[in-house]
Amino acid sequence: MIAYLGRIVHDNDAESKLDDDVSSISKSLDLQGSIENGDVSSLASKDFGGLYSVKPLFLIKPSGAEDISRVVKLASRTSNLTVAARGNGHSINGQAMAEGGLVIDMCSTEKNHFEFLPINGSHYIDVSGGALWEDVLTRCVSRYGYAPRSWTDYLSLTVGGTLSNAGVSGQAFRYGPQTSNVTELEVVTGKGEITVCSETLNSELFFGVLGGLGQFGIITRARIKLQQAPDMVRWIRVVYSEFEEFTRDAEFLVTQKEGESFDYVEGFVFCNNDDPFNGWPSVPLDPGHEFNPTHISQTAGSVLYCLEVAFHYRNSDHPTVDTAVNGLLGRLRFVEGLKSQVDVSYTKFLLRVNRAEEQVKANGTWDGPHPWLNLFVSKSDVVNFDRTVFKTTLKDGVGGPMLIYPLLRSKWDDRTSVVLPEGEIFYIVALLRFVPNGPSVEKSVAQNREIVNWCIKVGLDFKLYLPHYQSKEDWERHFGNRWSRFVERKASFDLMAILAPGQNIFRRDPPNIIISREF
Ligand code: FAD
Repeated sequence: MIAYLGRIVHDNDAESKLDDDVSSISKSLDLQGSIENGDVSSLASKDFGGLYSVKPLFLIKPSGAEDISRVVKLASRTSNLTVAARGNGHSINGQAMAEGGLVIDMCSTEKNHFEFLPINGSHYIDVSGGALWEDVLTRCVSRYGYAPRSWTDYLSLTVGGTLSNAGVSGQAFRYGPQTSNVTELEVVTGKGEITVCSETLNSELFFGVLGGLGQFGIITRARIKLQQAPDMVRWIRVVYSEFEEFTRDAEFLVTQKEGESFDYVEGFVFCNNDDPFNGWPSVPLDPGHEFNPTHISQTAGSVLYCLEVAFHYRNSDHPTVDTAVNGLLGRLRFVEGLKSQVDVSYTKFLLRVNRAEEQVKANGTWDGPHPWLNLFVSKSDVVNFDRTVFKTTLKDGVGGPMLIYPLLRSKWDDRTSVVLPEGEIFYIVALLRFVPNGPSVEKSVAQNREIVNWCIKVGLDFKLYLPHYQSKEDWERHFGNRWSRFVERKASFDLMAILAPGQNIFRRDPPNIIISREF
């Protein structure tokens, strides 16, 4: 079987027989799920970034962990095959792809697990690694009235995909990223072993996989902490013309005790002009609200700042909401007159970017290329970053949101594989480019490179989030003093470098000889 698979990889004449090959491989693997040819037009050769396209050998739609284990074991018996778990393919730089390898469509495992677990007075949900967060939300809230505590802004992402990175949104200042909100995982390692792990059981695998960029195992099940879901959310945006005042208020809010602040804190930079995508019109939360630029001082610069906050409440709390929210807003120094607010249900709030997706799809810009760049920048360097990058390089915008908001290092677990800047407060910066509304792809890619190179050159305390590097030296620099731990974890759980080749960190050498061993 393995010798046979090797022939397919290397013999071009064999291409025409791929359909037969698919069915015999499927039979030999005894999959509960299905297997398809890797085609350049198949979903496995594309991602949201739209910058890279590579042809896999096969796309596998497993029914669960057993199937995934068989696929990884099969790959381990060849000398060249790699395996990429594909969540929902929302990576930017081909991270979920495998050139000439086996791509596993995790979404086909989505329905395998969904179990609500009350344990010792706390509540958890067990879900498949391929579950979409939007389904976790709607099922948890509608059936049980509970919900995960930490989210991403957009929910058509998979549980395994975000846990392999971190999973960050406006709740992370309080509860940490999504990687701080799981207590148990089931993982298929690079050896094909199905292993349950937690803080106390196989802990090196547990912490390695969290933020591990898919390098140590494929997450097939995750146990996620829940909290009681609120009924409603008051969602508010206020505007600042000075970066120092914006950061002062954002940092004030994220360092208050629970119950003494908002439940969600984010922010973004926008252009001080009437551009429909990059400027003032991007601020109002409701089409009925107007952005009145006469409130902005004449001395304001090329960009302005919007603080976005949300306050959770139950319907029965309604009479006290105004007092609580106004009390908090009263402590902030935003530009008077530049406030937009709406009350929406909790699920509607969390699905806000999914709704925006529908609108953007309607105007055709969702499916184009997205040369996005995400960074974590230390508080100590964020003023410099604003001056050089936002006020100068990006003063005309990126054709989409330019997010910036503070996070607290103490809410992240140092034992995971995620790397962060030094210092307690750091900012996430996300340049969410939609090319038709901003610079061209070439210019966007060049700007991203310029920004990263500048950060390195001036010695900024920063890390890429959802990192993408080409060379071993860059990865070593990225991980810094955590590189040796990352390499040791790779040696323990995926010595043959089978998993997640699209991250371009470790390479399974191309084969000359295929091991001839029966599967
Ligand atoms: P994929 O892109 O398919 O995979 C990502 C990586 O994880 C690949 O290396 C893949 O091999 C690996 N992988 C996938 N599934 C598994 C698994 N089960 N086990 C092990 N490895 C696996 N991120 C945030 O943190 N916050 C946000 O608010 C946010 N908003 C976003 C909004 C949009 C519109 C988009 C496109 C992305 C956003 N992201 C955000 C980024 C998102 O977290 C990443 O794209 C992430 O990779 C999840 O996407 P995915 O599930 O499609 O995974």
